[in-house]
Amino acid sequence: MASIEQTPQGPVLVLKESALQQKGRDAQRNNIAAAKLVADMVRTSLGPRGLDKMLVDSLGDVTITNDGATILKEIDVQHPAAKMMVEIAKTMDNEVGDGTTSSVVFGGALLAKAEELLKKEVHSSVVVEGYQEAAAKTLEILASVGKKVEFEDEETLTKVAVTSMQSKMVSEDSDTLAKTVVDAVLKVVSKDGDSYSVDLDNIKVEKKAGATIRDTAMIEGIVLDKETVHPNMRFTVNNARIALLNTALEVEKTEMSAEIRITDPTQMQMFLEEENKMLKEMVQKIRNLKANVLLCQKGIDDIAQHYLAKNRIMAVRRIKESDMAKLEKATGGRVTTNIDDLTEKDLGTAATVQQKTIDSDKWVFIEGCKNPQSVTILVRGGSQRIVDEVDRSLHDALMVVKDVIENPFIVAGGGSIEAHVASQLKVWADSFDGREQLAIKKYAEALETIPLTIAENAGMDPIDSMANLRTAQNQNKMWTGIDARNAHVTDMMEIGVIEPVAVKEQIVNSATEAACMILRIDDVIAVSGGQP
Ligand code: ADP
Repeated sequence: MASIEQTPQGPVLVLKESALQQKGRDAQRNNIAAAKLVADMVRTSLGPRGLDKMLVDSLGDVTITNDGATILKEIDVQHPAAKMMVEIAKTMDNEVGDGTTSSVVFGGALLAKAEELLKKEVHSSVVVEGYQEAAAKTLEILASVGKKVEFEDEETLTKVAVTSMQSKMVSEDSDTLAKTVVDAVLKVVSKDGDSYSVDLDNIKVEKKAGATIRDTAMIEGIVLDKETVHPNMRFTVNNARIALLNTALEVEKTEMSAEIRITDPTQMQMFLEEENKMLKEMVQKIRNLKANVLLCQKGIDDIAQHYLAKNRIMAVRRIKESDMAKLEKATGGRVTTNIDDLTEKDLGTAATVQQKTIDSDKWVFIEGCKNPQSVTILVRGGSQRIVDEVDRSLHDALMVVKDVIENPFIVAGGGSIEAHVASQLKVWADSFDGREQLAIKKYAEALETIPLTIAENAGMDPIDSMANLRTAQNQNKMWTGIDARNAHVTDMMEIGVIEPVAVKEQIVNSATEAACMILRIDDVIAVSGGQP
């Protein structure tokens, strides 16, 4: 579409004939519609009774999930405004690890409510202003009602983890998984003055299909999905002194191809013996440092394997780089690139290094590490698809427990906090004049979409549920929400459905920001540059 500006001298062509351009209400309407579509896509998966999505990629691989972030990450969104909604989910996932579906549903609701005002000729900048005022007030209310959680309060931390897994396929096993998650996070907490911090990089998650979800366990140390390189190596080493290498234990091949003519069989023998000698010396260097375990990022030659076994050094090869970094941290060792540079100071330590058989596979466990702040969660489950879903759910649960430890305030879930804030906002809106008041009330209505959707997805009557919920909220029963499991309106704090304040704050911030950004756009122009 060309853009033609009228001037006294006649029409002037501003944009190329072919340039895509949408202006004013059209642009706004299109953007809102696209963003709302994304929200509608994930709406039915919100809450514990939300349905799952089956995602099929171009190769026919299938992922079944209920996790908003995963759904939106996988689908191929084209429209720029829709992409902004996908961004919200990504931000939620990176910042707090949970609340992805809620934020997109809430963002979509904010736009749907804004559209009602735009149709009544309320200017979008007035809506944006009202929304921003309302968001600031929401954050204020959240801060004032959040309940403090003590660090030792494992019960509450477990409930937070269970709540985050309620909507997942693993919800039946959420109690055992939540306990494992809390145990793991508490192992890696560091105290910093009066506050605590959690580095989730210290928790390694390994997946192994087989057994049941309830067999998922935490191991105090690092688990490697690898076996020792030689069948004659010992399978258990106590008081391990560990050499960490990221170079191959092989004789280096030259870059260029050279031809050596051998005229006598003894010369061949000499070559082989030389190679043998070099490998033997490499192993001897490790032996001289009294190392009894070698963990290598690259390959280990067969002859070197033989010498290692002979010297009673347990060895594992082709370990992932990311695992080497974790091993470095856990064992207190240093990854060395050249075997000649390896010194005793570079060795890590662990109480035991042991090869164990899990189903028919052999794995290496490094336990009782020098740094006890390194743990592994070994995920089990009936099939690869299940362990993948457990892994995704654990990610959310680990993040929410981290959120509460770092910012120790919680609120009740099930739409209770959203309903509470909405009722407060509606009263507060009356202190504003005219159109801004309308926008604040619409913001409150958008918040109510969360309990409404949870109720709808649980098969409850939305009108009755919301009427009961509003009545309870008006009676100041702040934690009343939608108990989706038992399909009734009740005190969510009492039934232990609780969530970090940090997640709710992030939902408010991300969704409001995205909605306002979309509302402020009144021109969409295709520009040159960027990816074709
Ligand atoms: P998100 O990706 O936003 O975390 P979920 O599908 O996990 O989306 O749903 C989270 C919502 O479900 C939260 O509002 C949470 O309070 C709510 N919820 C969790 N457990 C229950 C429950 N037992 N009853 C009702 N709502 C629940």
